[in-house]
Amino acid sequence: MNTKPNVIADVATPARTKEVLKKYDLAAKKSLGQNFLVDLNILNKIVSAAGLDESKGALEIGPGIGALTQQLAKQAGKVVAIEIDQRMLPVLEETLAPYANAAVVHGDVLKVDLNEVFERHFAGMSGVSVVANLPYYITTPIIMRLLEERLPVENIVVMIQKEVADRMAAKPGTKDYGSLSIAVQYYCEPQVVTIVPHTVFIPQPNVDSAVIRLQVRKEPPVQVENEKLYFEVVQASFAQRRKTISNNLLSRFFTKETKPRMEAALQEAGIDPSRRGETLSLQEYASLTAALSRAGVTL
Ligand code: SAM
Repeated sequence: MNTKPNVIADVATPARTKEVLKKYDLAAKKSLGQNFLVDLNILNKIVSAAGLDESKGALEIGPGIGALTQQLAKQAGKVVAIEIDQRMLPVLEETLAPYANAAVVHGDVLKVDLNEVFERHFAGMSGVSVVANLPYYITTPIIMRLLEERLPVENIVVMIQKEVADRMAAKPGTKDYGSLSIAVQYYCEPQVVTIVPHTVFIPQPNVDSAVIRLQVRKEPPVQVENEKLYFEVVQASFAQRRKTISNNLLSRFFTKETKPRMEAALQEAGIDPSRRGETLSLQEYASLTAALSRAGVTL
């Protein structure tokens, strides 16, 4: 009987993860957001939220020692995992050895040519999901890169800080609603899948975590002619949360002399100038952007 611990089997248990880290003499790097998942139940929830099957691809960001990658490889036709930390490469070679459909790309996800990754690895797949336990220090830049580049992604299922998940899914008029909510909801339909306790990670993070599913929309939910201006208007409206929309717009786009044009634009869009940015819906921001554009606001 083989009594040796089998590290090629699922690494997502506390004992196996510790064993692998010890075997390769690895300590988790805080600076790279390394918190390894050691709970198969949570991993299964993440994987099933992505709705994968043999015909689909999965792009993972930050495979670490391969806990999630292994589970993805069991469900998807192809898994590509981008990892910045060179120390993980020999570990992944071992933990992913049984999975011929898993490939590792060494690099920084913010710099790797993702279009090239898609063309090379996912051609012919019926859809691709991004699935990851993200490094928390760059959650927002990663998600915004994926969305703004309009990569052919069906959905994004990621473990992130709970506080960020709440902001992404927030509705107008709530304290969590802000420019991130609007940016994410412009491209996706967000749904918090589950809240995750600290105890499922090694080492344990200091913040609460959540799994969020972002179903990427085929079309934005509102009609916007100038997206750049739209997001600039949103940013400006939240520049000082406690200020009214008119005060925020005034500081960003108008002067004392041109203020009447702003007032006319707000009226045309049907928005009370004393409202705060956090009360406006995506649609109201679209109407406001169009009215401001007609009032001569450009970038
Ligand atoms: N997927 C593993 C798991 O669930 O156990 C590890 C997740 S850990 C939270 C985040 C991973 O992202 C680490 O392996 C880290 O090295 C990697 N990472 C951090 N910054 C990255 C970047 N810019 N590009 C690619 N990977 C990165």
